Amino acid sequence: MTVPFLSFSPQHDPIREEVLAAIANVYDKQWYVLGEQVKSFEAEYSAFSQVAHTIGVANGLDALHLALLALDVQPGDEVIVPSNTYIATWLAVSYVGGVIVPVEPDPYTYNLDPARIEAALTPRTKGIMPVHLYGQACAMGPIMAIARKHGLWVVEDNAQAQGAAWEGGFTGTFGNANGTSFYPGKNLGALGDAGAVTTNDDALDAKIRTLRNYGSQQKYYNEVIGQNSRLDELQAAVLRVKLPHLSAWTAQRRQVAAWYDQHLAGLGDLILPAVAPGATHVYHLYVIRTARREALQQHLTTQGLGTLIHYPVPPHRQQAYAHLGMAAGAFPIAEEIADTALSLPMWPGMTEAHVAGVADAVRSFFG
Ligand SMILES: *Cc1c(COP(=O)(O)O)cnc(C)c1O
Repeated sequence: MTVPFLSFSPQHDPIREEVLAAIANVYDKQWYVLGEQVKSFEAEYSAFSQVAHTIGVANGLDALHLALLALDVQPGDEVIVPSNTYIATWLAVSYVGGVIVPVEPDPYTYNLDPARIEAALTPRTKGIMPVHLYGQACAMGPIMAIARKHGLWVVEDNAQAQGAAWEGGFTGTFGNANGTSFYPGKNLGALGDAGAVTTNDDALDAKIRTLRNYGSQQKYYNEVIGQNSRLDELQAAVLRVKLPHLSAWTAQRRQVAAWYDQHLAGLGDLILPAVAPGATHVYHLYVIRTARREALQQHLTTQGLGTLIHYPVPPHRQQAYAHLGMAAGAFPIAEEIADTALSLPMWPGMTEAHVAGVADAVRSFFG
């Protein structure tokens, strides 16, 4: 049996006609930017997320950047970011001239470890950017408590965790303003680039709406130096068809994870995903760890089983951040994860036979 790392077919095939009709509708209406589709999607995503405002933007990286701009982050402001994350979190800080202050994760949940945050604070620290990595909610209770105590803002990177929760509160609702991504492979994916900011703060909502659209509320009147980062009508129309299915797709991801957990228990040095008390996990990715990662990946690849590594190089070791002078060994937990992590196939619609096929190959590897 071959199992691709990702297949959209079980999600996309049943809604094909509905999606194509939604696209045709936009085509025929002839209103292509910031029209009724974006407006409706924003309201529907807010209802889903239990948040006051959603601002549709061009992609997840812009969402994070716009959140930091709206919070008025200034050059030299220090921002706490995870040492292990997709590079977008760091890039958003770089765009506004912020000083990146990486903090190591919990080695089992892979999320920012609240116990390590306070040691990294200085009088110049302005904010914290927790990333709900692989789909598991960060410990938002403790993180928000630290932020309140020290007067810091919080921007959640919710690109991988739509629908996850910490103690009943949805990710993307705790921080002052939070970014998410609808990149096709995300749990809620468009047919191209798309993203959103979510916030419960009316003033930030107004500011971000203005910033995403040329700094303008009224056409041809520009209040601030804004950007062009609008969610497309076509993508919004597609997302509106997909959003009502997200909870069912998440349930399927959880079922796939539960099957993996059963089928992979107790093999060699294999570390399976751990879910922290208080957190829920929506399994954007199912990430295992082993010291023999390269050989295991090779073994699976030769049998037609798709895997990826999230992520092979932590941000501080990327060439793009060489100027920060963060040496190998500077963030050993992030480096250990980068050296040992392997993401197994994970998509709604995977069957127990698919999971068993992958698990059998993993088992045969460990003998
Ligand atoms: C995908 C992703 C982003 C960026 O989203 P884009 O839409 O690709 O710009 C940011 N942070 C994390 C953790 C992501 O996984």
